[in-house]
Amino acid sequence: MLVAGNWKMHTDRAEAIALARAIVASLGDPSPIRVAVCPPFVNLEAVRQVLEGSPIALGAQNMHHEEAGAYTGEVSAAMLRAVGCRYVILGHSERRQYFGETDALVNQKVKRALQHGLVPIVCVGETLAERQAGQAEAVVERQLQGVLDGVELPSAEALVIAYEPVWAIGTGHTATPDEAQKMHALIRQLLIARYGDAIGRALHILYGGSVKPDNAAALFAQPDVDGGLIGGASLKAADFTAIVQAAR
Ligand code: PEP
Repeated sequence: MLVAGNWKMHTDRAEAIALARAIVASLGDPSPIRVAVCPPFVNLEAVRQVLEGSPIALGAQNMHHEEAGAYTGEVSAAMLRAVGCRYVILGHSERRQYFGETDALVNQKVKRALQHGLVPIVCVGETLAERQAGQAEAVVERQLQGVLDGVELPSAEALVIAYEPVWAIGTGHTATPDEAQKMHALIRQLLIARYGDAIGRALHILYGGSVKPDNAAALFAQPDVDGGLIGGASLKAADFTAIVQAAR
């Protein structure tokens, strides 16, 4: 199980430090659950210092697909590694919706992240209109095949998939455990077909979309739900800790 917090564009430096400290203090030893937090870029270094010696890993929320160069305002995979990141969220629906990210671009980012030993948490998920039109499975399959095109994996530890139905993100409308399991099972089949049985079965598939302390256990109990990507509830240490506990 892996539970990762996506802090989005929240927390100034002082708030990020305080939140990281509160999570470290309330979480104790989360093993065997893996835990990560993904603060804004500018707070990565401050949060890294707080996490030092703790079992909580550091992640970023995005990165550029090129190695380096004249890309004003962008951040590279090597920079994220140098600041201590283990994970990077790629292809989040907010990146797709507001910044025009396509499966082809996310695919380039995934390849670059892997070259640098970063573990991409690659997001896929359908909109409400797509679900209502009966297209949810087709959309998720198309996204998954697109973002993983030509992506080779040395092991199941190298990559994480997050199923995040867009209609559930930040809305308070969570997928039911059954809806989540159905989509996760499809993603599992596609991963097995692409990477073989051993890697396909061992890859983490996270659920994301309005996960809260009171619905986390039922979602995490599903056989193909291997943890969660947590937005809003990751900004309160008590809620985030309760969600991690629900993964035990
Ligand atoms: C997210 O943005 O990845 C997310 C799942 O957000 P929330 O938990 O707030 O729905």
